[in-house]
Amino acid sequence: MCKPRQTKRGQESPLSPSSSPARPRPRTPRRPEAMARKGVSYVTAAQLVSMVSDPRVAIIDVRDEERICDAHIAGSHHYASDGFADRLPEIAEATRAKDTLVFHCALSQVRGPSCARMFLDYLSEAKEESAVKSITVLERGFNGWELSGKAVCRCKDAPCKGVCS
Ligand SMILES: [Zn+2]
Repeated sequence: MCKPRQTKRGQESPLSPSSSPARPRPRTPRRPEAMARKGVSYVTAAQLVSMVSDPRVAIIDVRDEERICDAHIAGSHHYASDGFADRLPEIAEATRAKDTLVFHCALSQVRGPSCARMFLDYLSEAKEESAVKSITVLERGFNGWELSGKAVCRCKDAPCKGVCS
Protein backbone atom coordinates (compact mmCIF):
# COMPACT_ATOMS: atom_id res chain seq x y z
CA MET A 1 0.00 0.00 0.00
CA CYS A 2 1.38 3.37 -0.99
CA LYS A 3 0.71 6.22 1.26
CA PRO A 4 -0.22 9.31 -0.60
CA ARG A 5 2.59 11.77 -0.53
CA GLN A 6 2.18 14.58 1.80
CA THR A 7 2.52 17.78 -0.10
CA LYS A 8 0.66 19.95 2.24
CA ARG A 9 3.42 22.41 2.59
CA GLY A 10 3.66 22.76 -1.13
CA GLN A 11 7.43 22.76 -1.23
CA GLU A 12 8.10 19.15 -1.91
CA SER A 13 7.19 19.10 -5.55
CA PRO A 14 9.50 21.46 -7.31
CA LEU A 15 8.49 20.38 -10.76
CA SER A 16 5.79 22.56 -12.08
CA PRO A 17 3.49 20.75 -14.50
CA SER A 18 4.41 23.08 -17.32
CA SER A 19 7.99 21.92 -17.31
CA SER A 20 7.20 18.32 -18.05
CA PRO A 21 8.75 17.35 -21.37
CA ALA A 22 6.50 16.56 -24.26
CA ARG A 23 6.05 12.87 -24.59
CA PRO A 24 7.13 11.45 -27.87
CA ARG A 25 4.15 9.97 -29.51
CA PRO A 26 4.73 6.34 -30.41
CA ARG A 27 4.23 5.74 -34.06
CA THR A 28 1.98 2.93 -34.91
CA PRO A 29 3.67 1.06 -37.68
CA ARG A 30 1.39 0.36 -40.55
CA ARG A 31 1.97 -2.72 -42.50
CA PRO A 32 -1.04 -2.90 -44.71
CA GLU A 33 0.01 -5.62 -47.04
CA ALA A 34 0.14 -8.67 -45.04
CA MET A 35 2.00 -9.76 -42.15
CA ALA A 36 2.68 -12.15 -44.94
CA ARG A 37 5.58 -14.50 -44.70
CA LYS A 38 5.79 -13.90 -41.02
CA GLY A 39 5.83 -17.50 -40.07
CA VAL A 40 4.67 -20.95 -40.79
CA SER A 41 1.19 -21.96 -39.78
CA TYR A 42 -0.64 -25.26 -39.94
CA VAL A 43 -3.63 -26.44 -41.89
CA THR A 44 -5.63 -29.56 -41.16
CA ALA A 45 -6.46 -32.23 -43.69
CA ALA A 46 -10.07 -31.05 -43.64
CA GLN A 47 -8.97 -27.52 -44.47
CA LEU A 48 -6.70 -28.73 -47.19
CA VAL A 49 -9.52 -30.64 -48.88
CA SER A 50 -11.25 -27.37 -49.56
CA MET A 51 -8.02 -25.82 -50.81
CA VAL A 52 -6.80 -28.43 -53.28
CA SER A 53 -8.95 -27.31 -56.13
CA ASP A 54 -7.68 -23.74 -55.82
CA PRO A 55 -5.11 -23.13 -58.54
CA ARG A 56 -3.28 -20.67 -56.32
CA VAL A 57 -2.50 -23.37 -53.79
CA ALA A 58 0.49 -25.67 -54.22
CA ILE A 59 1.13 -28.76 -52.13
CA ILE A 60 4.79 -29.57 -51.59
CA ASP A 61 5.56 -33.11 -50.57
CA VAL A 62 9.02 -33.31 -49.00
CA ARG A 63 9.03 -37.02 -48.17
CA ASP A 64 12.01 -38.89 -49.46
CA GLU A 65 11.73 -42.30 -51.13
CA GLU A 66 8.48 -43.05 -49.34
CA ARG A 67 6.65 -41.03 -51.89
CA ILE A 68 7.48 -43.58 -54.52
CA CYS A 69 6.18 -46.56 -52.54
CA ASP A 70 3.33 -44.76 -50.86
CA ALA A 71 0.68 -42.75 -52.56
CA HIS A 72 0.54 -38.97 -52.57
CA ILE A 73 -1.94 -36.14 -52.51
CA ALA A 74 -3.21 -35.51 -56.01
CA GLY A 75 -1.63 -32.53 -57.63
CA SER A 76 1.27 -32.31 -55.21
CA HIS A 77 4.81 -31.38 -56.13
CA HIS A 78 7.66 -33.50 -54.88
CA TYR A 79 10.85 -31.97 -53.51
CA ALA A 80 12.48 -34.50 -51.22
CA SER A 81 13.78 -33.10 -47.93
CA ASP A 82 17.08 -34.71 -48.81
CA GLY A 83 18.62 -32.12 -51.10
CA PHE A 84 15.81 -29.65 -50.52
CA ALA A 85 18.20 -26.78 -49.76
CA ASP A 86 19.80 -27.08 -53.18
CA ARG A 87 16.51 -26.84 -54.96
CA LEU A 88 15.18 -23.70 -53.29
CA PRO A 89 15.51 -21.54 -56.43
CA GLU A 90 13.79 -24.21 -58.47
CA ILE A 91 10.93 -24.40 -55.98
CA ALA A 92 10.61 -20.62 -55.94
CA GLU A 93 10.38 -20.70 -59.70
CA ALA A 94 7.77 -23.45 -59.74
CA THR A 95 5.57 -21.73 -57.16
CA ARG A 96 6.09 -18.13 -58.24
CA ALA A 97 2.47 -17.61 -59.22
CA LYS A 98 1.01 -19.38 -56.20
CA ASP A 99 -0.51 -17.71 -53.24
CA THR A 100 -0.36 -20.42 -50.62
CA LEU A 101 2.03 -23.33 -50.19
CA VAL A 102 1.26 -26.37 -48.09
CA PHE A 103 4.27 -28.43 -47.07
CA HIS A 104 4.07 -31.92 -45.72
CA CYS A 105 6.11 -35.05 -45.13
CA ALA A 106 4.87 -38.33 -43.70
CA LEU A 107 3.91 -36.91 -40.30
CA SER A 108 4.78 -33.23 -40.74
CA GLN A 109 6.74 -33.29 -37.54
CA VAL A 110 10.28 -32.69 -38.72
CA ARG A 111 10.90 -32.57 -42.44
CA GLY A 112 7.71 -30.77 -43.45
CA PRO A 113 7.99 -27.88 -40.99
CA SER A 114 11.73 -27.52 -41.40
CA CYS A 115 11.54 -27.39 -45.19
CA ALA A 116 8.67 -24.91 -44.94
CA ARG A 117 10.80 -22.65 -42.73
CA MET A 118 13.79 -23.03 -44.96
CA PHE A 119 11.74 -21.97 -47.94
CA LEU A 120 10.21 -19.08 -46.00
CA ASP A 121 13.69 -17.85 -45.09
CA TYR A 122 14.86 -18.28 -48.62
CA LEU A 123 12.01 -16.17 -49.97
CA SER A 124 12.60 -13.44 -47.40
CA GLU A 125 16.33 -13.33 -47.87
CA ALA A 126 16.60 -13.81 -51.58
CA LYS A 127 13.76 -11.38 -52.10
CA GLU A 128 12.62 -13.57 -54.89
CA GLU A 129 9.76 -12.21 -56.84
CA SER A 130 7.01 -14.43 -55.74
CA ALA A 131 3.30 -14.12 -55.17
CA VAL A 132 3.45 -16.56 -52.29
CA LYS A 133 1.86 -15.01 -49.25
CA SER A 134 1.29 -17.90 -47.00
CA ILE A 135 3.47 -20.88 -46.18
CA THR A 136 1.76 -23.59 -44.24
CA VAL A 137 2.30 -27.15 -43.08
CA LEU A 138 -0.24 -29.95 -43.30
CA GLU A 139 -0.95 -31.17 -39.80
CA ARG A 140 -0.19 -34.88 -39.32
CA GLY A 141 1.30 -35.05 -42.78
CA PHE A 142 0.49 -37.49 -45.53
CA ASN A 143 -0.14 -40.32 -43.08
CA GLY A 144 -2.79 -38.29 -41.28
CA TRP A 145 -4.31 -37.34 -44.59
CA GLU A 146 -4.55 -40.93 -45.74
CA LEU A 147 -5.74 -42.22 -42.37
CA SER A 148 -8.57 -39.74 -42.34
CA GLY A 149 -9.78 -41.26 -45.58
CA LYS A 150 -8.86 -38.48 -47.96
CA ALA A 151 -8.29 -39.31 -51.61
CA VAL A 152 -4.77 -40.26 -52.63
CA CYS A 153 -3.09 -40.63 -55.98
CA ARG A 154 -0.64 -43.31 -57.11
CA CYS A 155 0.62 -41.94 -60.39
CA LYS A 156 4.31 -41.67 -61.16
CA ASP A 157 4.22 -38.15 -62.54
CA ALA A 158 6.29 -35.45 -60.96
CA PRO A 159 4.72 -33.08 -60.33
CA CYS A 160 1.50 -35.00 -60.12
CA LYS A 161 -1.00 -33.68 -62.61
CA GLY A 162 -3.71 -34.35 -60.12
CA VAL A 163 -6.15 -36.00 -62.47
CA CYS A 164 -5.57 -39.61 -61.61
CA SER A 165 -6.79 -41.36 -58.52
ZN1 LIG B 1 -0.48 -38.31 -58.80
